[in-house]
Amino acid sequence: MIDFHTHVFPEKIAQRSVSVLAEKAGIKPYTDGTPSDLRRHAKESGVSLAVVLPVITREDQFDSIFRFACKINEENDTLFSFGAVYPGDQDLKDRLKLIKEYGLKGIKIHPDYHGIDLSDDRTMELIYEAAALDLVISVHAGVDIGIPDPVRSTPQMALRIINEIGPEKMILAHTGGWKLWDDVEGLLVGKAVYFDISFTDGYIDPGQWKRIIVNHGTDKILFGSDSPWSSEDKTAEAIYKLGLSAKDNLNIFENTAKKLLNIDQGNI
Ligand SMILES: [Zn+2]
Repeated sequence: MIDFHTHVFPEKIAQRSVSVLAEKAGIKPYTDGTPSDLRRHAKESGVSLAVVLPVITREDQFDSIFRFACKINEENDTLFSFGAVYPGDQDLKDRLKLIKEYGLKGIKIHPDYHGIDLSDDRTMELIYEAAALDLVISVHAGVDIGIPDPVRSTPQMALRIINEIGPEKMILAHTGGWKLWDDVEGLLVGKAVYFDISFTDGYIDPGQWKRIIVNHGTDKILFGSDSPWSSEDKTAEAIYKLGLSAKDNLNIFENTAKKLLNIDQGNI
């Protein structure tokens, strides 16, 4: 199994970051937020690779996030980290090139934590330049449970990105848009964009969840837990419960992720 949506923090700040965020969102974390604890949890849940998505909240965090991501990837173990660049960064192009050069393979965009809309010119420039380098772009989509107002990443905004930029490897997290699943069904299902299914179980009607997954096509659906905010084994169990075909499950848990990350014979 490949988990395409996880978060970890450097040892020194993990405990504090996780407890602050958990309180804000009113949810219980499943790991202590450290890379070692995610490695342990992934192993116990049968996850062979977990993609770490760093959330950048200021331009000057680029270097520390980049170094932390490279360090995770050097261990060449269960975790693989993407990078992050703040929208409107003056060195945006160079920084994306660095991410590409060091093999981080992708970036995370979180409009609520950037404080900048997905459809803002700065975010669109970031997506345009990242797509030009063939990077995977994982986007927080829908309501953020910790910062619900305003919603900075809606299905309407995502549709604009798809129509005006058309990035080949863009992922909308939380099954296309957390708690905005009617709009996901109306606007995004079937479009050329990926969805991860993280942090959806328990919030969506299972019938609608299954309908979105099947109608969108599982060759564009990725398994993700949003660890530490949800558990990998519980999320996997919820997907199995939907009663999809064996081929659909294989796509969700493995094949779509391998294709996006260009994994040959299990090596990243
Ligand atoms: Zn997340």
